[in-house]
Amino acid sequence: MNKKLLTELKEKLKKQKASIEVELGRFAKKDENLKGDWDTRFPKADGGVGGQILEDAADQVEEYVNLLPVEHNMELRLQNIDLALKKIKKGGYGKCENCGRNIDEKRLKVFPEARECGKCEK
Ligand SMILES: [Zn+2]
Repeated sequence: MNKKLLTELKEKLKKQKASIEVELGRFAKKDENLKGDWDTRFPKADGGVGGQILEDAADQVEEYVNLLPVEHNMELRLQNIDLALKKIKKGGYGKCENCGRNIDEKRLKVFPEARECGKCEK
């Protein structure tokens, strides 16, 4: 892979990483103890008894449940992006983790964090 493309993909990965972190930060908190782990903020329903409060709490729980897979998905992408950036630094970037062949450059331009070639992922 030529250096120009590699630099281009590296920049893309960094940008993606930053935007996912912003997105995640809107509803999740970075887990300081576990690197790369994010916790969805569980909304606090504190104080008081009454129908409205309970109803609000139920809505918030529903929202939390809906956000979990989104959070998980973003976390996974972040992990893959970090891995790709590490490989760019240490070498081995752009190689399929499964068959070891070079991942198609067209594929990398769309998914710079791809870990497997198009054939293996299917
Ligand atoms: Zn492969």
